[in-house]
Amino acid sequence: MAIATRSTLLQGLRCRACGELQPADERYVCAECLGPIEPEYDLDRSRAEDLRAEITEGPRTLWRYAPLLPVRDAVGDSPVGWTPLIPAPRLGAALGITHLYVKDDTHNPTLSFKDRPVAIALARALELGLDTLACASTGNLAGAVAAAAARSGLRAFVFVPETTEPGKIASAAAYGAHVVRVTGTYDQVNRLCGRLADEHGWGFVNFTLRPYYAEGSKTLLFECAEQLGWTLPHHVVVPVGSGALLTRTATAAAQLRAAGLVDDGHCHIHAAQASGCAPVSDAVLGGRPVTPVRIPETIAKSIAIGAPSDGDGAVSVVNASGGSAASVGDSDIADAIALLATTEGIFIEPAGGVVVATARELARRGVIHDGETVVLYLTGSGYKQEPTTGELGPVIPPDADAFHLAYEEVLR
Ligand SMILES: [Zn+2]
Repeated sequence: MAIATRSTLLQGLRCRACGELQPADERYVCAECLGPIEPEYDLDRSRAEDLRAEITEGPRTLWRYAPLLPVRDAVGDSPVGWTPLIPAPRLGAALGITHLYVKDDTHNPTLSFKDRPVAIALARALELGLDTLACASTGNLAGAVAAAAARSGLRAFVFVPETTEPGKIASAAAYGAHVVRVTGTYDQVNRLCGRLADEHGWGFVNFTLRPYYAEGSKTLLFECAEQLGWTLPHHVVVPVGSGALLTRTATAAAQLRAAGLVDDGHCHIHAAQASGCAPVSDAVLGGRPVTPVRIPETIAKSIAIGAPSDGDGAVSVVNASGGSAASVGDSDIADAIALLATTEGIFIEPAGGVVVATARELARRGVIHDGETVVLYLTGSGYKQEPTTGELGPVIPPDADAFHLAYEEVLR
């Protein structure tokens, strides 16, 4: 079932390479130069009040931002987005950040932010009349695509590295998708899917539907700004896999400003990566272009992309926004997962640990000034994950004395 359509302000798709504006038809690369194309909207500050009212009265899902999304007809009704922006004072005290919030995107249907880009890609696939959704995934996207396809009665093929966490593979399979496990790295899976996308007329969300898919990532910052009373946070810390979430965070900030929905204040965008796969963070910190990482080695598998498709774009965005970057080791990631869980009661996957550990590093370096608002993007739940934290106590017989004996030190 689709709800009533609200009008998009989409004007067409602009090529990032040659600048040509083209119609939003079936193309997914520039017809002139095969460059990457991105939706462009008719934004006008003089209509800011009307637009703000339309958004505010919209559904409590990402579809409240329909005017700033590239879909004309098929607006889905799945409960994606409008996740909580939670003040995190106990975590903030531990990190040395006074105004800290977490954007808890584990509240999406398949427990990760990937439900957002998939919602837009699905709507586009339905507009085009496609019967199959597909993707290359490190795990979370596979579940999001599988669930969205199931809900709409479409077939799904999801391609993942064979080393993907069993919990993520199992949930994608439960939604009825064909889960294709592939030997090798995510980048090798990605190249395979690039070839298959040319061969089959499927809706490959991160290839043939990419200009639409990537737009879903903007909605995290749209929501943060609205939840902060139509103000941009001073700092956003973004986990970086392909780099699409980071670049679209900058796009979202630019569109909110152009539409007059927020003031022109600074929003510093920071890249968070694991040291076992940090092509973007290393490029930012080293002041050089992205060098691909051939074999990623980190517990943060959901962002372990050695050759990020939006890597150089992400580096430019970080630099242009006055942001910074960090790369953090696996033990710091595990500690950060435990710190967030024990201070704020939120259980995240390692990519979130990367974000929390990066925030700690940025605070330590003096990048974040007193009183500035900081938002951490928590993009995936710990509940689909192999345990990285949490020591369990002994098993005891059902006996009070046994309990008191076993927990003597804790109770003292
Ligand atoms: Zn072009």
